[in-house]
Amino acid sequence: MTAQPQTETAPERALRSVLHGRGLRFRKHVAPLPALRCRADIVFRTQQIAVFVDGCFWHFCPKHGSVPKANAEWWREKLERNVARDRRNDQVLEREGWTVLRVWEHEDPRLAADNVESLVKARSLRVSQ
Ligand SMILES: [Zn+2]
Repeated sequence: MTAQPQTETAPERALRSVLHGRGLRFRKHVAPLPALRCRADIVFRTQQIAVFVDGCFWHFCPKHGSVPKANAEWWREKLERNVARDRRNDQVLEREGWTVLRVWEHEDPRLAADNVESLVKARSLRVSQ
């Protein structure tokens, strides 16, 4: 289902702990949409926000993405498929009313948390209206 290892990564843990510290509550590693075989790393179900912490290698980050030299052709196809699947999942989620936030693993977790927090607050207002 996902090319990422199933255990949580250090950047994910860092982001979650900043969010927790700010009093935000969420679920981790759940599928936002049961029909979509895609788990988000952090899910705010009420506000319909799905946060993905994307690894620079597996999701081909514009700064650090690279294709290994050995079996380059195979890797390029695999990584391109990963990126295409990410975009497809984003589209499906957004069509169903979700907001998707993707955070690169190289991003500062506090800055990423700022984005998540303001999104959660904005959508909480909408939910309560
Ligand atoms: Zn990166």
